[in-house]
Amino acid sequence: MSGFDDSDFVRLLEIIDQTEKERRSETAGNFSKSTLEDGYGDYGGSYDRVVSGLIFAGTEPDLIYGNIYIEDGIIKEIEELSGSQMKSRNWIVPRFINAHTHIGDTLLKDPPLGPDITPYAYKRDLDSLVRPPNGLKHRFLSDLSQEAAIDSMESAIWDMYQNGISVFADFREGGLSGVAALIEASKNAGRGIHPIIFGRPTFSGFDSAASGSDFSASHLFLDELRDLLDVADGIGVSGTNDLDEYILAKIAAKTQSKRRRLAIHAGEKDRSDIEPALSLDPDLLIHMTHAEESEIKIAADREIPIAVCVRSNLVTGVGLPSILSMLDAGISVCVGTDNVMLNAPDMFEELHFLSKIYGISDATLFKMATSNGADALGCRFTGSIEVGKKADMMVLNAKSLNLKHVKDPLAGFVRRARADDILGII
Ligand SMILES: [Zn+2]
Repeated sequence: MSGFDDSDFVRLLEIIDQTEKERRSETAGNFSKSTLEDGYGDYGGSYDRVVSGLIFAGTEPDLIYGNIYIEDGIIKEIEELSGSQMKSRNWIVPRFINAHTHIGDTLLKDPPLGPDITPYAYKRDLDSLVRPPNGLKHRFLSDLSQEAAIDSMESAIWDMYQNGISVFADFREGGLSGVAALIEASKNAGRGIHPIIFGRPTFSGFDSAASGSDFSASHLFLDELRDLLDVADGIGVSGTNDLDEYILAKIAAKTQSKRRRLAIHAGEKDRSDIEPALSLDPDLLIHMTHAEESEIKIAADREIPIAVCVRSNLVTGVGLPSILSMLDAGISVCVGTDNVMLNAPDMFEELHFLSKIYGISDATLFKMATSNGADALGCRFTGSIEVGKKADMMVLNAKSLNLKHVKDPLAGFVRRARADDILGII
């Protein structure tokens, strides 16, 4: 059997690229053919566009039949009608807010998930996969060219768009150039999906053992932090166990003084980094898989939202977060798909898992995947279908083989809907 050399790899990439372009032009063709019969399309009246069908309105949501009138991309009016007046019964749903991603590892979609322990099984191991600086992900990212990073992230963004996501919050590794690559990839992918970028300093030239005593290295680090805060929406900290106190304190203080957002992984593998993370007063906690009641109460008292990534926790074998306790405590829980290397960035799947594992109510899960994420990320312009908000919506085919016969559309959406039920994205 012949080997797979570099030229084969280049050819494979070209084929993938070509297929992607064809798919995009086909998709564009489908969208331009859409009509009011499908529940969405151009409208001849005074508004730019009208979307008709079963509207998942507000945050709870209220399910009503009617028309949504859109002008300049903003919802101007929601007109309630009786079901019998409707040509389209398709479901009009707010697009998802994916509250936590790492799309930088998109080219590493099938990594070994841990060492083999028997001929037929492996041992799950979080640190070997993603812990900085020597986890597989970081070794991979350090060798990745800027061009490959941009191309691969663009495909992940396009994939998320097709999966009904309107906003994603990415922990972007690689300092300024990492953030620049994501900005470029987002521009290429178009304006239909909005990134919230949490940058991460590279600490170049900074020996953490020297801490604050090494003035010149400290200076470099602070310069990088300042530059990052100029271009990113905030800083995403990998975890307090990975950095020394001086760096963490500087990151928190500078981020807060620049009025940017501080997000931090906490309690993913064990509890040891939860209290230090809470002490930084972050704007968003990620995972909290091992949080106990007392820690959940502190987060609730301080109104810190938590992004849970349950499919990721299952892949890495770290356990599952006490989401019901978080909800009991009044925490605004939102949902993320975490690393692309661990899971496809698919919020439908995330909802299916959450529903099946926890038995959380359909309405609560709907909020977790939409408006809670928008609130947590300061994106109150989106996340629900309401007058004055951005018309970030998807139209689902109520007659698809998957959705026909559904009697309770909210339950159908949360527990069953898939990306291939999407007729159009607005
Ligand atoms: Zn993460």
